Amino acid sequence: MAHRVTLIPGDGIGPELAEATRRVLESSGVDLDWDVQHAGSDVMDEHGGNPLPEHVLDSILANGVALKGPITTPVGTGFRSVNVTLRKTLDLYGQVRPCKSYEGVRSRYDDVDLIIVREATEDLYAGIEFEEGSADALELIEWIGEHGASVRPDSGISIKPISVEGTRRIVDFAFDYARKNGRRKVTAVHKANIMKFSDGLWLHVAREVAEQNGDVEFEDRIVDNLCMQLVQRPEEYDVLVLPNLYGDIVSDLCAGLIGGLGLAPGANFGTRAAVFEPTHGSAPKYAGQNKANPMAMMLSGVLMLRHLEETEAADRLETAIAELIAEGRSVTYDMKPSRDDPTAVGTSEVADAIVEKLSVTV
Ligand code: NAD
Repeated sequence: MAHRVTLIPGDGIGPELAEATRRVLESSGVDLDWDVQHAGSDVMDEHGGNPLPEHVLDSILANGVALKGPITTPVGTGFRSVNVTLRKTLDLYGQVRPCKSYEGVRSRYDDVDLIIVREATEDLYAGIEFEEGSADALELIEWIGEHGASVRPDSGISIKPISVEGTRRIVDFAFDYARKNGRRKVTAVHKANIMKFSDGLWLHVAREVAEQNGDVEFEDRIVDNLCMQLVQRPEEYDVLVLPNLYGDIVSDLCAGLIGGLGLAPGANFGTRAAVFEPTHGSAPKYAGQNKANPMAMMLSGVLMLRHLEETEAADRLETAIAELIAEGRSVTYDMKPSRDDPTAVGTSEVADAIVEKLSVTV
């Protein structure tokens, strides 16, 4: 029976990457029935100013699985991130971003194999914000003043909630992931020395969860120290579990270790659905140019096939991508020795080359 999957092409470079990814997934021999849905600024006018229409959420819930391209978020003003709203509304709390070195990638490292597990519903991403000068911000500043602290009156305020429940389930998720995927160690990342009641709680709960998972090694690291150590000795780490904001930043750092954002896939897991999407954003400057690297989205497709228990097809697709990287010919500009290398191919040519490889193995 076909797997029915919601496909959200996204915007910017999203539609080109989604099309390339759809082609290679279909060439893997798995029967996929796409339910194409649109979200983002391009469709908000048709839906009363809502960039994430209800029917998109309904489709993901009905199918339980979605593959999503990046969606642009206006900076500083405008609507809230569709990506964050999607994760919060569907309670997609567990984000998994594998960062793995493939042979032939141009990077300073050749032995990286890390898994980022990022909590995706809490922290400074919760969207609880008070605009500078607003009545609510002024009231909050006054309240804070009455409770022994001081905040400058011309401040904007973002709230950082970290709960026992939210921490317990993501750290549990990280241990579960480690066990199922033969990983040796979970590292909880925090800044508990400074934020004692949010990150302090995170660390305390993580240690409790670790005690119940004694079969997997556990340690913790302060986030700034972790960043330095990842750059010096990434091989020392295995599964990293992080609150939302550190998870976002460290994901891009780790993408840098494995050759860039063009190679960093991701998955968002909740109790009701799973949404697969690359770590990178919509890179608007490359939109419509058949230029961006589709491999991060294709590798997100590989993660989706594994989730659908299409292991053999997932292995074949990942091998085809790995071979293409190792050969170094049919790859996009970002994987060439110099960014203006004339032998770089476009997004759709990468898909062509992978489809050709798969046609031999299917
Ligand atoms: P970005 O990831 O879109 O791009 C940063 C740079 O990385 C690009 O300029 C490009 O040089 C490179 N890059 C990214 N993807 C690439 C690819 N597939 N191939 C080759 N090079 C690639 O980050 P940004 O510029 O900070 O964000 C652009 C928009 O995307 C913003 O609106 C942001 O909010 C949004 N965004 C969305 C998601 C998501 O949909 N999940 C994630 C991150 C950012």
